[in-house]
Amino acid sequence: MPLSAPAPATDDPVTAHNVDLSNCDRELIQYPGAIQPHGALVVLQEPALTIVQVSANTQAFFGLPPEAVLQQPLAVLLGEAQARRLQERLAQTPVAEKPVHVLSGQGADPARTYQVFAHRLDGLLLLEYEGVQSVAPASLPDLYAALHATIIQLQATTSLQAFFALAVRQIRQLTGFDRVLVYQFAEDGSGTVIAEAVQAELTSYLGLRFPATDIPAPARRLFSLSWLRHLPDSAYTPVPLVPEHNPLTAAPLDLSYSVLRSVSVMYSGYLQNMGVRASMVMTLLKNGRLWGLISCMQHAVPKYVPYEVRLAGELLAHMVSSLMAAKEDAEDYAYRLCLKTTLEALTARMAQAPHFVQGLTQHEPNLLSALRAQGAAVLLGEEVVVLGQTPAPEDLRSLAHWLSSREEPVFATHHLAQHYPPAERLRACASGLLALRLSRTTADCLLWFRPEILAEVHWAGDPRKPVALDTTSGAVRLLPRTSFALWKETVYGTSRPWAECEQQYALDLRRAIQEVIVERAEELARLNQALLESNREMDAFAYIASHDLKEPLRGIAHFASFLAEDEMERLTPVGHAHLEVIRRLTQRMEDLLESLLHYSRVGQVDLALEPVALNDLLTQALDLLRPQLEERGITVHLARPLPVVRCDRVRVADVLLNLLTNAIKYNDKAAGRIDVGYQDTEPPVFYVRDNGIGIAAEFFEQIFQIFRRLHAREAYGGGAGAGLTITRRVVGRHGGRIWVESTPGEGSTFYFTLAPGVPAGAG
Ligand code: ADP
Repeated sequence: MPLSAPAPATDDPVTAHNVDLSNCDRELIQYPGAIQPHGALVVLQEPALTIVQVSANTQAFFGLPPEAVLQQPLAVLLGEAQARRLQERLAQTPVAEKPVHVLSGQGADPARTYQVFAHRLDGLLLLEYEGVQSVAPASLPDLYAALHATIIQLQATTSLQAFFALAVRQIRQLTGFDRVLVYQFAEDGSGTVIAEAVQAELTSYLGLRFPATDIPAPARRLFSLSWLRHLPDSAYTPVPLVPEHNPLTAAPLDLSYSVLRSVSVMYSGYLQNMGVRASMVMTLLKNGRLWGLISCMQHAVPKYVPYEVRLAGELLAHMVSSLMAAKEDAEDYAYRLCLKTTLEALTARMAQAPHFVQGLTQHEPNLLSALRAQGAAVLLGEEVVVLGQTPAPEDLRSLAHWLSSREEPVFATHHLAQHYPPAERLRACASGLLALRLSRTTADCLLWFRPEILAEVHWAGDPRKPVALDTTSGAVRLLPRTSFALWKETVYGTSRPWAECEQQYALDLRRAIQEVIVERAEELARLNQALLESNREMDAFAYIASHDLKEPLRGIAHFASFLAEDEMERLTPVGHAHLEVIRRLTQRMEDLLESLLHYSRVGQVDLALEPVALNDLLTQALDLLRPQLEERGITVHLARPLPVVRCDRVRVADVLLNLLTNAIKYNDKAAGRIDVGYQDTEPPVFYVRDNGIGIAAEFFEQIFQIFRRLHAREAYGGGAGAGLTITRRVVGRHGGRIWVESTPGEGSTFYFTLAPGVPAGAG
């Protein structure tokens, strides 16, 4: 029966009389109404110390039957001297609800010594006489020395695992049990055997997981009340109390703290099923909460552990608890530290890598390195990168899509299918999910996965392992197999939960990623700014240089023409030829400077944006070019009138003029043809198409670079090679783009836009 779904409570209290599998988690095991037979219980009313209730075995212990001692003073049972000694001890020792050893006493049999424990509860004084053989006083120093050595060795261990391995070994040596194991509780109440010292012939339980039902809630409550519970013989016959109810309260006696308390029949039955005859259980507490148990087992025969050894065991349990808490905290701290260093390494990698995803996935440590997960994935746009064991990419995409509807940046669950039903079939590798959303608006995310617990653990009660069934009692009680089936239900589709520090790690990683992205953007903005400034400087320089160079150039041109006119007769034919070259070169230089000036001016002046009827600009340009068109016999076709667009009239007129001039110049066909038009996109795409010489694809970019020509200077009417550069700059300053499509020998089409944006809706 899983603890998460207890049977509906009924009004009947569940006690040793009516407990079964369906109600054991409600059993009132503190009221068994009986004790174990290796001792006797005497309940007294103070201050007169009148005996109000006893265990039914007083005859064996004190030589008197219950009827003879009930409602009598204690002296009747113990004799005057013993009763007085006890009273004196009680006066000296503070006795509250935890049993304290008050003295070693004698009962009916003077040869036997009893250990006497006292505690107070509900206004009653409970004396427990335990008839277990003591450790010989001579060997007590050895016990002390062993204890001392154990504690020192435990302190020196470096890992939690080594610590517990040593603890169980030493406790086994100290107590002589067949098996000593450390059992750690998980959040769901189930527990795992994390350390074991066992006699060589016995099967090991190490690594086995026991369901929560194996140690039901009431038992756990009692374990957390006392440091040590000893059951010398699980096959004992309980000794009832006389009278059954406490006569003062008319209610069952609360034996929560009793040393001799009779255990739940479910427990003794369970131990017998496991083939355990005697047990001793010590409690491990962490910050006041039950963390686990040290469980000692004897398989074949009963085992009575002397009080002194139990005391040593109890002390060890205290020590183990506090040392363990410190060691566990240290391991926890080490894990956090490891996460932190990994985060730092990942951050550094992300900053260096061309893209942050590469920084997270392509090196060690990677996304999966420190975090205790079996798989990890990065989903960024269409890209999916996985590490370790994860669901398939299409499942990851659906999961990311679902996650994008959630608010929180980090989502952690150890039972994903409960939140996201499609994960049901992914539970083997993705019962646990730690998800980190990278943006509010997209499904971009980082994911870590944990497998289902069932896939991970070895469970007790495995049907493949032999289980000794004790059916001699006639009643089949808790069986590991049955409880395993129940536990399996409780952990179906569940993984180990995500710790707080792991979720924090995810959040820190998110911050690191965002910082890297922002840094990149800032760097880009900085570069852009620097580029802008250097462009501006270049323009200013080009402008000044070209402007200032023009003056001396004009001087050279003038003096060359003076020379040609005035010294005509005196020059030899060679001198004439040289002068002619000077004039041509200066003219050429003037053209180049003019282009440069033009180019830099386009970069510097502000655009005068206004609605411009492009059709008018085209008509003007064609009017200008009419002589060339006619001379070359080229026809111009306009599919439909060009629209009105917002642009700089003068600059865009230049653009049209340049493209049309080129379309005329670079045409060798007899029937030259130019098509001008536009596509109805947003923004519209204009085009100028010719059936000229065409351009090879490898030059599509070069033709836009300044002073780059594809032919000899004089071919096709010559040109400075700056026209397209200026055109691209004008288009760029409008926020638009210009590009070319061309087939050599067939013609070229130049496309351009005059507004920002990628043209959409082209038909
Ligand atoms: P140019 O002053 O040389 O025409 P541009 O910058 O206008 O300078 O053009 C650069 C080069 O691109 C030209 O030299 C030419 O080789 C090539 N080009 C430009 N337009 C065309 C076209 N319509 N057909 C073929 N080649 C062209």
